[in-house]
Amino acid sequence: MEKKNIDWGNLGFAYMETDKRFVSNYKDGAWDEGGLISDANVTMSECACVLQYAQTCFEGLKAYTTEDGHIVTFRPDLNAERMENSAKRLEMPVFPKERFIDAVVQVVAANEAYVPPFGSGATLYLRPYMYGKNAVIGVKPADEFEFRVFCTPVGPYFKGGVKPLTICVSDFDRAAPCGTGHVKGGLNYAMSLHAIVSAHAAGFDENMYLDPKTRTKVEETGGANFLFVTRDNKVVTPKSDSILPSITRRSLVHVAKEYLGLEVEEREIYLEEVKDFAECGLCGTAAVISPVGKIVDHGKEICLPSGMTEMGPITKKLYDTLTGIQMGRIKAPEGWIKVIK
Ligand SMILES: *Cc1c(COP(=O)(O)O)cnc(C)c1O
Repeated sequence: MEKKNIDWGNLGFAYMETDKRFVSNYKDGAWDEGGLISDANVTMSECACVLQYAQTCFEGLKAYTTEDGHIVTFRPDLNAERMENSAKRLEMPVFPKERFIDAVVQVVAANEAYVPPFGSGATLYLRPYMYGKNAVIGVKPADEFEFRVFCTPVGPYFKGGVKPLTICVSDFDRAAPCGTGHVKGGLNYAMSLHAIVSAHAAGFDENMYLDPKTRTKVEETGGANFLFVTRDNKVVTPKSDSILPSITRRSLVHVAKEYLGLEVEEREIYLEEVKDFAECGLCGTAAVISPVGKIVDHGKEICLPSGMTEMGPITKKLYDTLTGIQMGRIKAPEGWIKVIK
């Protein structure tokens, strides 16, 4: 397989059209067989439910080349399960788990020329998504849907080394109690755009959202879960019904307990206690963990002891162990690595 002539090491996180994508349509109560197509554009009614009422959800995962030359993905079954929950909450039909995984495999195999080589740090980012497609003007769910998976090569996240982030406590809320914070829907991102643009304009990398009910507890950022480390090396991560259950965070919790023998607490975390933590990181598929160096709460600065130049020692161990598992250097727990070829 001849790879595309791409400067893998200098790719950013941007869309690049690739050769094939998977499409399946839902009509009259059933998904069709679906298959790979070449056309990267979508045509639909001007009144499609997704365009008027944002009936859509998505997933994000990566395929990459391991040290021994296999192309694999990481825990795609959890993406399928999470999309099932998102679809149910947004009144969309479930795309079956086995078919979801098969679609991911087909897309990666058909775009093998775009899977970055081992050692480049780049990966093939996969974007499964689903939306209500038929015309809907009175408020109700669509009854025709489209499920798609496309892929795009993306660059190494820590290009030119790790740079701990500076984040700010946001005055905006991300998710309402009993709302949709736990589902991966475009709706949660539409309303976060103003908040992130404002944060960037003020010189911050990300927003720390608090629980909207009491504004005392840490929730997450716009697209990553928090993980903290206490001064006595305990890993602590927020528990809340309105945060998105990050697959990376859940995997890191397992790694902390089972590989590193660390104590882990999943509990409510008060903003008040953040100043006492030794390390802070943001967990998500894109970076695995991005270290946070500073948290600014309305002019009050909380500087993490791990500093502004490198990952804290526990964060680094977690990062190295999980990426080692993903790249095949460390034995993975049963079922974590799906080998495509
Ligand atoms: C996708 C997402 C995450 C990260 O989840 P991963 O499965 O680890 O990639 C965290 N928070 C939000 C709001 C997300 O949408």
